[in-house]
Amino acid sequence: MSYAVSMDQPWTHYYHVEFLCEGIRGETFDFRMPAWTPGYYVILDLAKYVINFHVEDGTGNILPWEKITKNTWQVEVYDAPVVRLSYDVYAFNQSVAHPFLDDGRGFISPTGIFMDVKGHLQHPVTVTIKPYQKWGKISTGLEPVQEKFNTFYAPDFDVLYDCPILAGNQEIMSFEVEGIPHYVAQENPADIDDQKYLSDLKTMVESAVSIIGEIPYKHYTFIIMDRGMGGLEHANSMAVFSGSRYSLADPEGYKRWLAFLAHEYFHLYNVKRIRPIILGPFDYNRENYTNMLWFSEGVTVYYEYIILNRAGFLNRKETLEQLRRSIVNYENIPGHLFQSATMSSFDTWMLFFNRSENASNTTISYYDKGCALGVLLDLKIRHETNNEKSLDDVMRSLYYDYYKEKNRGFTDQEFRDVCEEVAGCSLEEIFEYASTTKAIDYPKYFSYAGLYIDTIPREMPGAYLGTGVREVEGNLIITNVVRNSPAWQADLSPGDTIIELNGIRATYELLNEIVVSGKPGDHVNILVSRRTGRKFYEVILKKKTLKSFNITPLDNPDPDQLAILNDWIIN
Ligand SMILES: [Zn+2]
Repeated sequence: MSYAVSMDQPWTHYYHVEFLCEGIRGETFDFRMPAWTPGYYVILDLAKYVINFHVEDGTGNILPWEKITKNTWQVEVYDAPVVRLSYDVYAFNQSVAHPFLDDGRGFISPTGIFMDVKGHLQHPVTVTIKPYQKWGKISTGLEPVQEKFNTFYAPDFDVLYDCPILAGNQEIMSFEVEGIPHYVAQENPADIDDQKYLSDLKTMVESAVSIIGEIPYKHYTFIIMDRGMGGLEHANSMAVFSGSRYSLADPEGYKRWLAFLAHEYFHLYNVKRIRPIILGPFDYNRENYTNMLWFSEGVTVYYEYIILNRAGFLNRKETLEQLRRSIVNYENIPGHLFQSATMSSFDTWMLFFNRSENASNTTISYYDKGCALGVLLDLKIRHETNNEKSLDDVMRSLYYDYYKEKNRGFTDQEFRDVCEEVAGCSLEEIFEYASTTKAIDYPKYFSYAGLYIDTIPREMPGAYLGTGVREVEGNLIITNVVRNSPAWQADLSPGDTIIELNGIRATYELLNEIVVSGKPGDHVNILVSRRTGRKFYEVILKKKTLKSFNITPLDNPDPDQLAILNDWIIN
């Protein structure tokens, strides 16, 4: 099977795709476009961007077809030895999970470009890229075919779908780790010294590799595009946007950028190889449900900070601060009372990329809670094994026993068994924290490393209202109302337009002033306009309390606690 992809008029945003199919025979072929992109857990219905579907046999006879599902084209091929398929794909979503094409970049997110043939995902395939004439570079994790220009090979469609391709004029730099080449394909050259940048990426990679102990690929490609959002992990590449979020010249921005890359990089182990059983081989046609994204994503967040700490980019204080933020992010929203980490994982297909105004009242992020659960697992294992074992041993065991030995993912129970085997004890409490909304006893776990974590609610300056607002064309609109907050109790609603505050025309500044300089018990008269009319509401402000989750050293840690701390997070 071979694909050819051309992009002669990139400003139209249409790729032209030709698929030559001569390795298989049958009466009918079902050509299917994936419904989602692995790693990006939402149904994208990539088939909707396809037009000009045309299919003929090797001698030019047009073959009849009909659509039988939203992403399946069934073709009568009459046992023809050669089938030629062609179609065009509209590609104008700036996303790591969609193809994109304009006069500056061709980003081939493969699940949106290449159809498979039902029943033949295991078939080898080659891809020839015909870039726009003004472009000279192609970057991908696919294997180049020797002596064939711009042609790449995948042993099966799972590999093809895991290898995005960037065509353009990106700068390509490289470094080696253990003799293995790592390519950095970057659209907008970083505003820092290239040699330092490459050397830092190499240090980051070495730090991540040292956790598992081996590099499971022949080459790795960092595909770094400029404007846009997000990143997506692959088995020997990543596709990320640098956006405007990271000023690399600013030391803090640079650390955030390295942490982001460490996250996407570590996924080559955690999720691409160390994986829940449902996450590969994938069903590309529907949701692939798992309870385990708190581990696949959240524990990857945890490791991005551990990797940077061990590589010397984050000191202990900075690392603990990052872990604190993950804890604060979900502990201080009402959603943590309603949604567990496992349920957040399972329901991500509906919720994560589709956040409503009520989301933080009812849901959490498995990135945040998963990171916290990673902390608990690591500290508990170190404590129970007299600091002989750690979460690293769990990762290695999953990698060697399941990925390499059994060549498959693990079930929820198998994952727990591995954790408990490494710990040498029951981890009932931590797995209960993962699958319920039970309050977590953080101080117990942090004390294993001689640390104190402040979980006491503290009164903050100012008063508490409990709404988010934004100004739209001079109107102050409520964007969300925190469950059980004063605003909630006063019957305010998302979507309400605030007209007046205490008789004065409402502005963002006025509202801010009332809350910041207000006192608990203050009454605020709010005139609101909503679908059902105008009405006054009286809100009674409350005191604002927050748990800081500040992490500080215990006064007199014993040698065992200190040993755990020193091995866990380097100074
Ligand atoms: Zn991730």
